[in-house]
Amino acid sequence: MISDILTGKSTSHLVPLEGTKFFIHSEMKKDFLALQNLARQDGFDLQVISAFRDYDRQLKIWNAKANGERALLDNFGSPLVYQTLTHNEVMFSILRWSALPGASRHHWGTDIDIFNAHTQSADEVELTPSETEIGGPAFELHEWLDEKIRTNNSFAFYRPYSTDTGGVSPERWHLSYSPVSKKLFAEYSYDLFQKNIQNSELVLKENILEHLPLIFEKYIQSVDSSPF
Ligand SMILES: [Zn+2]
Repeated sequence: MISDILTGKSTSHLVPLEGTKFFIHSEMKKDFLALQNLARQDGFDLQVISAFRDYDRQLKIWNAKANGERALLDNFGSPLVYQTLTHNEVMFSILRWSALPGASRHHWGTDIDIFNAHTQSADEVELTPSETEIGGPAFELHEWLDEKIRTNNSFAFYRPYSTDTGGVSPERWHLSYSPVSKKLFAEYSYDLFQKNIQNSELVLKENILEHLPLIFEKYIQSVDSSPF
């Protein structure tokens, strides 16, 4: 069922990415391998550091942060002290950096986080903005990708989190396979989101339900749209 794919409760749409521990959407594999080849020709070793994540994995991340067992960051990436925050402040600080379980684009298998394995080992990758900025190990790769996205009208990959709209923090490392993800995005309804939260075992669930329309708009719907 598409609702299970959208909320991370199905793996039927996935295939393994050989040579890695990751799974991606079956319809994206051919184009992803072509992208890797293209990058290789231009001197980049474009590799995946995160791909499909299931509901339970995302639930553990959320609950650990909501319980103060994992670091919380402010809007600009500086550490926060859990004990000094209200429940709503904790909730919004998590939403800036992590998706709610059932509402992560990583459930879809179409969205991946990438790095350049020529300049950084997988162990070193932290997925912070500075890694993708001037002087950072992934800067050249992302400049190259920007050029591809800008100059090729049918380029299948794009960045849903490139602009800071006040919701999810910009994530230059996060790529989405547009031909499939734009369809999934269109299917992800408020109704599905609401039911998923109501039936969850989320820490801070009451706070989330109180702010549900705002969260849907600001942290789920408000992404950069695909260029085609
Ligand atoms: Zn990501």
